[in-house]
This record gives sequence, structure tokens and C-alpha cells, in this order.
Amino acid sequence: MFDTVLIANRGEIALRVLRACKALGLKTVAVHSEADSNLRHVALADQALCIGPAPSPKSYLQKGEILLAARLTGAGAIHPGYGFLSESADFAEMVEDAGLAFIGPSAAAIRLMGDKVSAKRAMAASGVPCVPGSEGALSENSEEIRAMGERVGYPLIVKAAGGGGGRGMRIVRAREELLSAVAMTREEAGRAFGNSTVYLERFLETPRHVEIQVLADTHGNAVWLGERDCSMQRRNQKIIEESPAPGIDRKEIARIGELCAQACIDVGYTGAGTFEFLYEDGAFYFIEMNTRVQVEHPVTELVTGVDIVAEQLRIALGEPLSMRQSDIRFEGHAIECRLNAENPWTFVPSPGRVTDWIAPGGPGVRVESHMYVGYSIPPNYDSLIGKLLAHGSTREQAVARMRVALDEILVAGVDTTVPLHRELMLEAGFNAGGFDIHHLERLIDSGAFNGAKQP
Ligand code: ADP
Repeated sequence: MFDTVLIANRGEIALRVLRACKALGLKTVAVHSEADSNLRHVALADQALCIGPAPSPKSYLQKGEILLAARLTGAGAIHPGYGFLSESADFAEMVEDAGLAFIGPSAAAIRLMGDKVSAKRAMAASGVPCVPGSEGALSENSEEIRAMGERVGYPLIVKAAGGGGGRGMRIVRAREELLSAVAMTREEAGRAFGNSTVYLERFLETPRHVEIQVLADTHGNAVWLGERDCSMQRRNQKIIEESPAPGIDRKEIARIGELCAQACIDVGYTGAGTFEFLYEDGAFYFIEMNTRVQVEHPVTELVTGVDIVAEQLRIALGEPLSMRQSDIRFEGHAIECRLNAENPWTFVPSPGRVTDWIAPGGPGVRVESHMYVGYSIPPNYDSLIGKLLAHGSTREQAVARMRVALDEILVAGVDTTVPLHRELMLEAGFNAGGFDIHHLERLIDSGAFNGAKQP
């Protein structure tokens, strides 16, 4: 039991968590770096503590400092948001050992799902379809590696068990390149993740990225909250997300959703989580699980009406889920555009002072952002300055509302990705729906935005 939550994050997600805490009558503690004392949630929290200098390894990643801050402020729970320590099994374990609640799954569940080899094995055991591959860690023996390459088939992808953030992967199209690709990926993975285990997967050429949101409580209940299509990506970074995924059979999504919910029960997973799949030629292939709240969770909130962050808090308080699967209704269509302080065409970060900020509004429009006039975006962190969402009874209505909102929004002083989103909302492939994960890169390479308005 706890009545005070320490928010171990920054930016828009810290504000989102703070709002959920306040709505549930929970007190809040903001911990922040020296660069972040002017953040909106720091001003709104019941208590605020500076935990270190701007670079995140010296502040937001300081496990001991954060635990000390919890002790000093009487916080009984820690919400890690996304990124930073949110998927650190070691941190979750330290929080558990200190007798505090980690708002997320157990350290054991994070560890199981954080290793892609053990995650795939657990999912396959629950009947969740996975990308065909080496089914376990790859042998060290060259002959066995070659034989496995033939079994998986080309092109294939060498992946690090401990990989993340799009790192620790290498595509192999020709069998002569397999051994060196395996050696290089092992070497890199050992250095970057402290784990040189690698495995092979068939490389899917034109998949869509479709993920399933789940919630599971500590009483053995788990539900799935529909899917999100996150195929609009650049360098594996999601740019636009939507739900439902256009053109995918609802019965198949329900079947996969049920398998994901059951997998949570099978492995003792609790909290919010996301099962990421690649979808190609009508089939779903599990790639990994994110054991935390995601940037794009409001897309699901708009179509289901479920407050995912409030549910995370209730689950951590030991309460049962406030809904059963049969209570969940999917209504209309929701789209999210990620707003980044970046040049929209070169994607070069554009930190600095926001000299003007006017957020859009109207029916079905939601803004999640920590921006305000006079705020200075520090250069030290991710460039996400907020998320713009639109909901409508149909996809067309959601897109129309998004276009209006994008015309209305005003951000001055820094470059943002707003002009890119304006173009994308008018683009034929986007409007048709159902494009693959290379769609945006193809558009960029073909010069589709060369005539677009400069920021
Ligand atoms: P990370 O943990 O680094 O995000 P993922 O396993 O989620 O790694 O993969 C990231 C991205 O890499 C996917 O969204 C997809 O674009 C690409 N990818 C991963 N596995 C495959 C595969 N088997 N075939 C094709 N693309 C893949």
C-alpha cells in the first residue's frame, strides 16, 4: 500500500503519470536533473528533488539516488515511465528489496521478457506465433551456425538476445556473409549489452508493425486492449501510431489478443505491457515485449476509454483490474502524431527556447505535452516534445480532425516535426492505410517531401 508516488522520469510522460496520480488522490514526488527544474510536472508535484546534473547517467539513471529520494520523501512507489530505468530488472529488484512498489511487472518478469531468447521461448510455449528462427541461442560452432542459417533461410537477421533500441541486429542476404555477421553482432552485443548471445530469425521484407496492449493484475486477471499499427517509422523510430490497424481481420486480432493475455497469466506478468508483432501476408509474428507503458498508449485509451496509467497504479496498489475482457468495447479510430523538436526533413534535433506555443483543441483532439511559452528544451534528452492525438468515429474522421489540429498548432522558437505530419496526413499511402514499416523511408528516398514547406 502506498499514498505517494515518486515519478522517475521527465517530460510528457512524467506529466501524464502525475495527472493519473492526482486523479486517484495519490501524492507525487518529482525527481529531476539540474536541467529540468523548469518542467511542468516539477512545479505541479507535491514534492520535488534535484537528483543530479543534466546527463541522464548522472541523474535519471542513478538508481541509488532515486531510491534515496523515495526514502527522504516518504514515497511508497516508483513509476519509471518509459525509457531510462523502466525496463531495468536490476532497478525493479532494488525497489522491491527496499520494500517499495515498482509500478511495472516484477523484476523476474522484466528479466524473462528483457532477454529476447527467453522471451521468445516463453511466448512460443504459450502458443504466441513467433518469427521462425533458431529457437534459442545460436551455437558457437561454425558448422552448426551454417546449418542453422540454411534451416532458417535467407535473407535472415542476426539479433542479440540483450538488444534494444534498434541496436544489435544485422541483416544477412548472402550465406557467405553469415559467419562474419554473427561474429560482429556477438562482439557488439557483448560490448553494448554485456551479453553476447545471438540468435537468427527469418528477415521479413515488408512487414507492418502491429502491437497488442495488455493489462494484468496480481489476482490472475489479464485483458488485451486491442492493437496499434505503428508502421510509420524512420530508423525503427515510430512517428505515427493508430488503432485499429487498417484492413486486418478483427477475428485474427482477437485470437492474437487472447493469446497475449493468456501468455501474461502463464508467465506471471503483471502491469501494463505491449506485445510487438511484425505482420506480413496475413500472419502475426511476435518479436518482443515491452514491459512498461509506451509512448503511444493514449491511442488505445481513446478507442477503449481505459485509463492505462491509472490501471498501472491500481494494479500496483493490489487492486483487481477495473474491467473484464467482455467489458472492453472498441470505438472509432484514433491516430497519434509524435511531435519532436527536430528539423522535419533532416531530423536533426532542435533544442532551445519555445517562444510561442498554442495547443489545438476541439472534438476528439487530445494533446499530451509538457510545453509552454518560455520553456527551454534541453539538448540532453530525447527530442519528443509531445503527442497530438485525434479520435473519430471512422479513420477518415480521425484523419480530418488531425489535419485541422495540425493546421492549428503553433510552436515557435524551435523546429518541429509538425510540417512532416501535415504532409503525411495528405499522403496517398497513409490515407489508404496498411502500409509497411519502410513506407516513410521510401517516401523520403523518393524525394516526396522535396517541395514541402521548410520549417
Ligand atoms: P528493439 O528491441 O531494438 O526495438 P526489435 O526486435 O523490436 O528490436 O526490432 C526492431 C525493428 O527491427 C522492428 O520493428 C523491425 O523493423 C525490425 N526487425 C526486427 N526483427 C525483424 C525480422 N525478423 N524481420 C524484419 N525486420 C525485423
